[in-house]
Amino acid sequence: MTSHERVDVAVIGRGLIGSGAGRHLAESGRSMALIGPGEPSDWNTSDGPFSSHHDQGRITRIAGRNAMWTEVAAHACARYADIEARSGIGFHTPRGVLVSYPDAADWVDRAEHWGSDAHLVDPDWVRSETGVAIESGLDIAFEGAPAGHINPRRLVAAQTRLTELAGGTVIDDAVRAVERRDGGFELSGAFGSIMADRILVSTGGFGSELFDWKLDVERRARTIVMARLADDGRIPSLILDQPPDDRIQEVYWVPPVEYPDGSVRIKIGGNMKDTIFLEPDELVDWFHGDGDPAEIDCLGNNLRALLPDAPLGDVTTQPCVITGTPTGMPYIGTVDDGIGVAIAGNGSAAKSSDELGRLGASLFGEAGWDSGLDPSLFTPQFA
Ligand SMILES: Cc1cc2nc3c(=O)[nH]c(=O)nc-3n(C[C@H](O)[C@H](O)[C@H](O)COP(=O)(O)OP(=O)(O)OC[C@H]3O[C@@H](n4cnc5c(N)ncnc54)[C@H](O)[C@@H]3O)c2cc1C
Repeated sequence: MTSHERVDVAVIGRGLIGSGAGRHLAESGRSMALIGPGEPSDWNTSDGPFSSHHDQGRITRIAGRNAMWTEVAAHACARYADIEARSGIGFHTPRGVLVSYPDAADWVDRAEHWGSDAHLVDPDWVRSETGVAIESGLDIAFEGAPAGHINPRRLVAAQTRLTELAGGTVIDDAVRAVERRDGGFELSGAFGSIMADRILVSTGGFGSELFDWKLDVERRARTIVMARLADDGRIPSLILDQPPDDRIQEVYWVPPVEYPDGSVRIKIGGNMKDTIFLEPDELVDWFHGDGDPAEIDCLGNNLRALLPDAPLGDVTTQPCVITGTPTGMPYIGTVDDGIGVAIAGNGSAAKSSDELGRLGASLFGEAGWDSGLDPSLFTPQFA
C-alpha cells in the first residue's frame, strides 16, 4: 500500500471548487494534497463518485442573482486569463450572455459595480442580432465579455496542473475512508493512504458517507439536453425565467460547442417545478441513467420555441446533480476540529469556482477569511 508524505492540508474532491482551492493552497506555499478521481470511464457501470462538471459548457457572467454571486463571479472571471496562460489550458469563450428576468435591471446594476458592460436590450434587437425569440415580456439584459461560457472539464484540468506546478501532490482517485489519527487525519483509498493535519471537503453531491456529520443540503436531479446545431457565431449564453413551456421555472443554455464525440451541440437545462430530490444512496443509479423524460420533453419544447429558426438536429441527454442549500449560498466554513468544507454550488458555482475555492483555502491560512463578503453568509448548516 502506497503511503504518501504527510501534508498540512488535504483537499478531498478534485472538482471545480476543490481544484480551485487546491491551486490557491499550493500557490500559497502550503504542503498540500488534492485528491479526487477524474471522470468515470464508463458512466453506465461506474460506482462513482460522479461530479457536476463532467460536461463541455458552463455559463459564465458577472451579472448575478444577488450581491454575493455577483461579487464572487467578478473576482473569478478576473483570474481566468491568468489561469489559462500559466496552465497552458484554455477554457474560456467570452461570447456574452442574455439574462431575461423580472428584475434584470437589478442584475445590471449589481454587475456594473464590478465593471461589467451589462445593459438592458429589447426583444427585437435580441431576435435580429442573435436569433433568440424572447416573448415573455420580461426585461432582458445583455452582458458582453467576460460573460460567455467556460469548459468545466478544462478548468479543472488547468487548476490541477497549476496545483502540481506549485508543488502540490495530486492523487487521481477517490478517498474511501477518513480516520482521525496522530493529531491529524488518515485518508485512504485504492491509492493507498496519506496523512494530513487538516482537511477541506469539497466533494459536491457525493462524499457524505465519509463523515458522521451531515450538512443540510438537497441533491436536486437535473437532466441536460444537447441538440446538434452548428455554431453560427451569434447565439450567446442564455439564462431565462418563465420560459414558454412553463413546467420549468427557468432555463439556461450554453451555445453550440464541440462534444467529445466530435459533434457540435447546444446544451439546454433548467430547474423543473417538479424537481426530483435524490438521497445519497440514489445518486449513482441516477448517473447510470439518461435523465428524466418529462424534463427532456420540456427542455426540447423550450429550445425549439426560443430558437424558432435554428436547424436543430438529433438530441442526446445526460443526468447531473445540483447540491443546494436552504440559503442558496454555498457552505464555506469549519464543521469540526480540523475540517473545513467548501461545498454546495447551488447550480451556480462553476463560473465562480476559483473564488469559492480561494475562500475555502483561506480557512487554512494565517490571515484567515480574506474577503469583503461576510463569512456568516457561508456558514455551514447541519441536517
Ligand atoms: C447540469 C448543470 C448545469 C450547470 N450549469 C452551470 C452554469 O452554466 N454555470 C455555473 O456557474 N454553474 C453551473 N452549474 C453548477 C456547477 O457545475 C456546480 O456548482 C459545480 O460543479 C460545483 O462544483 P463542486 O466542486 O462543488 O462539485 P463538482 O464539480 O461535482 O466536484 C466535486 C468532486 O468531488 C469528487 N468527490 C466526491 N466524492 C469523493 C471522494 N470520496 N473522494 C474524492 N473525491 C470525491 C467528485 O469526483 C467530483 O469531482 C451547473 C450544474 C449542473 C448539474
